[in-house]
Amino acid sequence: MLTAIPDALSSAHVLVVDDDVPTASTVADTVRDLGHRVTVCNSWTEAVRAFGASEIDLVLMDAIMPGVDGFRLTKLLRARSTSYVPIVFLTGLSDRASREQGIAAGADDFLTKPVDALELKVRLTAMLRIRCLTRDLEARTRALARLASVDALTGVGNRRSFDEALPREIARASETGRPLSLLLLDIDHFKRVNDTFGHTAGDDLLASFGRLLAETTRSDDVPYRYGGEEFAIIARDTGFGSALTLGERIRGAFAALGDRGGRAGPQTVSIGICGTDQFLHRVDAGALLAAADAALYRAKGGGRNCVCRFDARVDARVA
Ligand code: GH3
Ligand code: MG
Ligand code: MG
Repeated sequence: MLTAIPDALSSAHVLVVDDDVPTASTVADTVRDLGHRVTVCNSWTEAVRAFGASEIDLVLMDAIMPGVDGFRLTKLLRARSTSYVPIVFLTGLSDRASREQGIAAGADDFLTKPVDALELKVRLTAMLRIRCLTRDLEARTRALARLASVDALTGVGNRRSFDEALPREIARASETGRPLSLLLLDIDHFKRVNDTFGHTAGDDLLASFGRLLAETTRSDDVPYRYGGEEFAIIARDTGFGSALTLGERIRGAFAALGDRGGRAGPQTVSIGICGTDQFLHRVDAGALLAAADAALYRAKGGGRNCVCRFDARVDARVA
């Protein structure tokens, strides 16, 4: 239940679009007098540019304009925005058809020209109240989407986002013809860490590892927590050779973590790598994962604290 009337935006950015220059400037003056910032556009091209250039809170739009009219422009602007910006149409008194057409095109309200100052204030306030609510809702939705995709303990992407990302990135790599590498990272003897130093120290070490991954990777290398003490990195535009260098950098940095690893540090990590450029044919997410996992298995078997890449001769059972 709403216990208070929500605030309307007190200082909004309003876009006024009208090909008739005197009308546009009269409307703009009235909006300015209400304390808002105004950008005036006299053509649809100017409007598209202004709409894309800064955050607009509300559009006051003439229905009838040469070239692209208000109805088509509304559709254009809606298609270009991820945020819901109210659009109020300015129509002639006798122009009932424009109202019907406008509402179908996505307009939220109508004002009759010549625009009455009080009427404009009332409509603007109502629309900016809705804008305030939707902006708040959109921010919360973004925050929730972030929460749903990030691992709370380590701050890297969670398993759900990894499962979504891997097939998507493989498809992107195959479209662009660029390689992609997958790194699987598994902290060594982590059970022993928990048993020796306690579960909280184990958690601290996982959190440090997450921070280290965020610090050591470029924006094209996206780290995820695959599960427990296993992590993954999807390295875009990266062949297996560069992925080996990246893996070595992470392995070395983790071994040298010292006090930053918390009570349990320093520890070591084993890494398995596979690049799409190791195959002549197109690989899917399952095959790439299996290949990187086989390499990780060999890294563990080879004494841990090392980086291995997939080797088709010894890991032939995989791909
Ligand atoms: P290896 O070197 O072969 O990888 O041995 P390991 O001990 O690291 O591997 P194993 O899979 O046997 O044990 C992983 C341990 O990680 C067991 C599990 O209790 C612990 N673990 C999983 N998730 C968490 C977590 O969120 N926090 C803590 N503290 N421990 C976790
Ligand atoms: Mg494990
Ligand atoms: Mg382990």
